Amino acid sequence: MWDHYGMMPDKPVIDPQMIVVHWTAIPTLQASYEAFYDSRLPGSRAKIGNASPLNVSVPYLIDRDGSMYQLMPDTLFARHVIGLNHCAIGIENVGDGKNHPLTEAQLEANEKLIRRLVKKYDIRYVIGHHEYQQFIGHPLWKEKDANYLTEKTDPGDEFMQRLRSQLSDLDLAPLPIEDSVKQGIAGQVRWYEGNLMPTVSEDTTEVQNTQGKPVHRTLLIYELTHQDQAKQMSHFFQDIKTKQVAKVVTDLSGRFKFSLPAGRYSLLVEEERGLFANQFDGEGNIFPFAVYTDSITQIDVRIDYKAVY
Ligand SMILES: [Zn+2]
Repeated sequence: MWDHYGMMPDKPVIDPQMIVVHWTAIPTLQASYEAFYDSRLPGSRAKIGNASPLNVSVPYLIDRDGSMYQLMPDTLFARHVIGLNHCAIGIENVGDGKNHPLTEAQLEANEKLIRRLVKKYDIRYVIGHHEYQQFIGHPLWKEKDANYLTEKTDPGDEFMQRLRSQLSDLDLAPLPIEDSVKQGIAGQVRWYEGNLMPTVSEDTTEVQNTQGKPVHRTLLIYELTHQDQAKQMSHFFQDIKTKQVAKVVTDLSGRFKFSLPAGRYSLLVEEERGLFANQFDGEGNIFPFAVYTDSITQIDVRIDYKAVY
């Protein structure tokens, strides 16, 4: 597991700086406990099993009535959040987002436990598991495989908002994405495919992909680049002569937010066939955009080379 982080400590202990709140997606305490008991992953979790056979685990499990169980020491290395396990204490809550929403008693128990942990350790962040991708690129982020990401929904915005308002006196740090970028770019990458021609159809079951599907991508930012400064094959480019300024990895929902100095740039998307761009200005610059002092430029990236208009 440590090889994912490029770290080789003497002992499997962590330096707690963060608390990550989860739900188990399992409705009962007994079944939740059994899921964490084995040290090896069950065969059902193929995606994360490829990364390591170590089972998921956390020090704390909170039942639906608020009773709390400690499964292991706080500082023992546990696997529960990609990229951040080396600094994160996990709290699991028995429940899910559908038939067993987290309870008031669990909210209270999380608050109590977090207050105790904040007193004991130098905790700066309390986050929901679904928020972890905001730490990609943050100094605490240690995952070396950019494609090893899973989409998480636990424990949801509502629970985290309520928990944060209960803990507002603790002066915890805000999430990095909201906090760190004051000037640069932000937006979302979407994938368009198939027939996007406007059609009149009586068959309302035929849903068109006009909104696009959010996709996880790597964006390359270059100094403003003219079409003549690269080799072009339809909407794909290579051998770009200008300087690459940044490489931006989106989250799994295609969202990105990134700091850049004021200036003019070109944006290209890494695709298997090459670097993709489909917007040009009147002068022939490739996907040009500008960043202005103290502001964030919104950019929507449409990948549509498999779409028909
Ligand atoms: Zn989780």
